[in-house]
Amino acid sequence: MNELNTQQLAELHQLLLNLSEELQQLLENSSNGAQPVSLDEPIGRLSRMDAMQQQSMVQANRRTAKTRLTRIEAALRRHAGDAYGLCVECEEAIGYARLKAQPEAPFCIDCQTGKETR
Ligand SMILES: [Zn+2]
Repeated sequence: MNELNTQQLAELHQLLLNLSEELQQLLENSSNGAQPVSLDEPIGRLSRMDAMQQQSMVQANRRTAKTRLTRIEAALRRHAGDAYGLCVECEEAIGYARLKAQPEAPFCIDCQTGKETR
């Protein structure tokens, strides 16, 4: 049984759309920073290491953003198919509070905890 009402569903849908837009923006804005560090640029050894460190941070952020975006897109598909808010594993309601904090969450807290400790 889905315990979300129409208003909550609409609210979470909007959250998903906002998040997806934000992440797409982030991926777009950071695409330059993910380019390989040019070795031709006249920068010292230290600043080159800084640049490389910065670059690997940007790449890690991009990976995180991409993973989250994939989950958000899956959540939007579940939303369109009326399966949103239900755990994809046990089909119990995930709960409004949990979805509010993480609208793309595919699992209920029990299944998520089970996955993490297993
Ligand atoms: Zn579950």
